[in-house]
Amino acid sequence: MSEQIRAVAPERHRALEDVRRRNLADILGIVHRSGRSTRAELTRATGLNRSTIAAIVGELVRRRLVVEQAPEERGGVGRPSFVVVPDPATIAIVVHPEVDAVVIAFVSLGGDVQRRFRFAQQRPPSPAEVVDLVAGIVEGVAAERESGALRVLGVGAAVPGLVRSDRGFVELAPALDWHGVEFARMLEAATGLPAFAANDANCGVLAEHRTAAGTGDFVYLNGGASGIGGGLVVGGRLLGGRSGFAGELGHVLVDPAGPRCRCGSTGCLQAIVELGALRTAAGLDVDGADELLDALVAAIEQPGPAADVVDRQLVALGAALRDAVNVVNPEVIVLGGFLGDLLEATGDRLIEIVRRTALPGAASDVSIVRAESGAGNLLVGAAELVFSGILADPTTAPAAA
Ligand SMILES: [Zn+2]
Repeated sequence: MSEQIRAVAPERHRALEDVRRRNLADILGIVHRSGRSTRAELTRATGLNRSTIAAIVGELVRRRLVVEQAPEERGGVGRPSFVVVPDPATIAIVVHPEVDAVVIAFVSLGGDVQRRFRFAQQRPPSPAEVVDLVAGIVEGVAAERESGALRVLGVGAAVPGLVRSDRGFVELAPALDWHGVEFARMLEAATGLPAFAANDANCGVLAEHRTAAGTGDFVYLNGGASGIGGGLVVGGRLLGGRSGFAGELGHVLVDPAGPRCRCGSTGCLQAIVELGALRTAAGLDVDGADELLDALVAAIEQPGPAADVVDRQLVALGAALRDAVNVVNPEVIVLGGFLGDLLEATGDRLIEIVRRTALPGAASDVSIVRAESGAGNLLVGAAELVFSGILADPTTAPAAA
């Protein structure tokens, strides 16, 4: 008899423990994606009762993953509800190396970019130079970490190149001239923090996927100084391919007689649709930090060489998107970085090209939008690399002393 009780009890304990973990992950996931939820909203979203919600939120507070704010005053009926938001002191440090600058930022749970540093570069930075910059930033917040004002969960890197994201190994980043770099390991060794790395466009996809959770099929393209990266979400999953290199839409062929691309081939999308040419056409410094959009809008008001450059880029982008629409049949195409500026500056012209040239069924289903998280989307996605473990199992975050 007692034998039997001993045999059953641990199993039941384990089952309860699994439920608790799942509830913690569900609630944290909702708060992380929404940025803020009332207890009442959490109750409605999960179907859990109020006291269970209170207990779960309490544990997430102890683990410094969320904080609760006083109820908001409301004129309506019913008791106002506590507001649960991600703990702003719990962050990931993220880094995005590009040919012209290294951007490092602090991103909190919930995807809030809190601090942003931009280190301009005269030439593409080496892996060691980027690691040094990150280590310097980590050292700079040592006192804040010691006092508990800041908790850094890890370092996430968005790299413009082919990255084996399971181990943060950069196979090739052509624009940076990086070949076979154990980048995540270098970051770990220099900072003492867990580190992760992924292709920068895939980071953008992660950021968009976080907010566009309902969209199971979308195509994402991000344009930066280093070129164009892409990612495909099909049936709710990021398409990785055999080694995680799928979705390189910057290298689809748009003109067999086109210019040579950094990848060694010719006529790739990113060899034609290119930030430098666009900035020059818009009358901006190639390396400057001024906003592209307004200059672009002004530049294409009148026919002329600037408008011609924009036309050429738009037609090439439309050709690549046509292929993506025919191959993937997405619900939405999301454009980040300077591609978002190009889209916004030219109104409906891009969707008109795609509607006119893609096959009718898929073409009528699709819309084209600018990336919601704006310029910070790669950074937010790089933070997702760091947060994914804790989001899956919040009990891996140590409780505050
Ligand atoms: Zn190429």
